[in-house]
Order: sequence, then C-alpha cells, then structure tokens
Amino acid sequence: MRIVYLNGEYLPENEARISIFDRGFLFADGVYEVTTVVDGKLIAFEGHFQRLNRSLAELQIEAEIDRDELLEIHRELITRNDLDQGMIYLQITRGNPGDRDFAFPTEPTEPTMVLFTQEKTVIGTAIEDKGLSVISIEDLRWGRRDIKTIQLLYPSLAKMEAKARGADDAWMVQDGEVTEGTANNAYIVKDGTIITRNLTNEILHGITRKSVLACAKALQMKVEERPFTIEEVKAADEAFATSASGFVNPVVEIDGERIGSGKPGQVAARLRDEYVRVNMKEAL
Ligand code: PLP
Repeated sequence: MRIVYLNGEYLPENEARISIFDRGFLFADGVYEVTTVVDGKLIAFEGHFQRLNRSLAELQIEAEIDRDELLEIHRELITRNDLDQGMIYLQITRGNPGDRDFAFPTEPTEPTMVLFTQEKTVIGTAIEDKGLSVISIEDLRWGRRDIKTIQLLYPSLAKMEAKARGADDAWMVQDGEVTEGTANNAYIVKDGTIITRNLTNEILHGITRKSVLACAKALQMKVEERPFTIEEVKAADEAFATSASGFVNPVVEIDGERIGSGKPGQVAARLRDEYVRVNMKEAL
C-alpha cells in the first residue's frame, strides 16, 4: 500500500481523508503538478515548483510553500514508497470553507495539499519505438489554460474520444490551429525547423517544452514558436509531443493519416536523448 502525504502527515493511502466541502472537490478550485522520477531522482523540480507558485498566485490561493520543504516531501515519498521510476503528483486546493459558496471564503481557508506517487516506466517505453497516433478535436476548454488547474474534464473526454477512435491521444484545435495535446505540448518538424505554438493563455507553459526548446537551440536546430494547422501536421516531416512524464514522444499519425514516413522521426529521438541527458545531470 502506498504512503501518501496529506497536510503535513504521511499516511497509508486508505487513511488519507478530505472534507466533502473541499473546494477542490466542489469547484475544481485547485492546481497540480506532476514531477517525474528516474532512478529515484526528481526531474526538473525547480521548474515545477516555480509554475506551482505561479498557478497558485493566479487563483489567489494563499499557500506558503517553502521550496526546501516541498523538495523534502517529494524525497520522503520516493523513499517511503521505494519509487525508482514514475511520478509524484501534487495537488493544492483552496481547502474547506465549511460550506458551498461560489464566492471565495472571506477568511482564507487552510489549503489542502496532497502528494502521492505513481509508478510508471518512463525510460525505454514502447512509444519511443512505435510513436503515438492522435486525432484532432475542437478545443473546448476554458480560456486560462496557462494555469495548471485540476479541472481536466474536457481533456479527459478528448482522451476518451481518441480511444474510441482507436488512437492514443487527441490534439486540440482552436480556430483551425493546434493548441496542444490533452496533457502535452505539440510540435511539428518541417524542412528541419521545429514549430510549436507560442506561449499565451491558450496553452500550458510546459516545463518540458522549455527544456526541450533549450536543447534544440543547443543542438543548433531551428525553432519557430507559432501556431500551426492540421494541414501543416499532415504535410510535416515529423511530429512529437512533450510532457513531464512522457519526455519527448514521436507522433506518427493524425486522423488516420501518416505523418512523414509514419515512423518515429530523428529530431524527436535526438531531442529525447538530449533532454534526458541534460535533465538527469541536474536531477535532485
Ligand atoms: N499541456 C497540457 C494541457 C498538460 O496537461 C501538460 C502536462 O500535464 C503539458 C502541456 C506538458 O507540461 P509539462 O511539460 O510541464 O508536463
């Protein structure tokens, strides 16, 4: 049985309890982060910590999070759960105001903070060799996708639609242009240039995206940050997606049509290797 963290305590997972009045439960009023673990070490912890603080500030959730303390909690969970490869999920909600009301409580509530581990193979996955197939789907999420909130119902529905159509994931489209994947940032490669949507409120500012673009620059690859269309995806030489737990995953098919050769591309593979190399060196 897993040991999880809840508001200052380490507990067996079946003993961790949260109020039915918690605003995370009633309003999805909370934020989250997922930090990947390889060889028992945390990948890109600093980036996730910084984005967590930004998300909390955007929602005016008053949680004082000490960086060293948070790192210690992550490490303690890795140790207690003997985690070698996988993720640590962290969620902070506005907490329990004792009743249900759309307005935020006038007296700030104690935030609810939960962390738990999840085992997952992240190095040497089948996807690296096989690639992902995606569908395109209208992006019907809210307008502040830059905040990493726990309201994930639409991405969840999009994922189910992808599965129903025999694909692995969905790339969401707004005004004819790709925003991002259900839980990853989206890229195409055309004539040696990597193209990915520029950072606005319309997409999550991926921690992996930032690092991968830095890797691309270090490898002297050309990068263009701009929106791209589904037609461009279909005409691309290759495509890929990035996320904390997937690193860099090749995308080989969209809406049943092959992208490039229909096989994982060289650019994605090189970026994956470089990303893992750089981030393992800095792992905490
Ligand atoms: N975009 C969305 C919508 C996501 O949910 C995620 C991760 O969960 C990402 C992009 C990738 O972000 P990161 O690289 O920080 O994991």
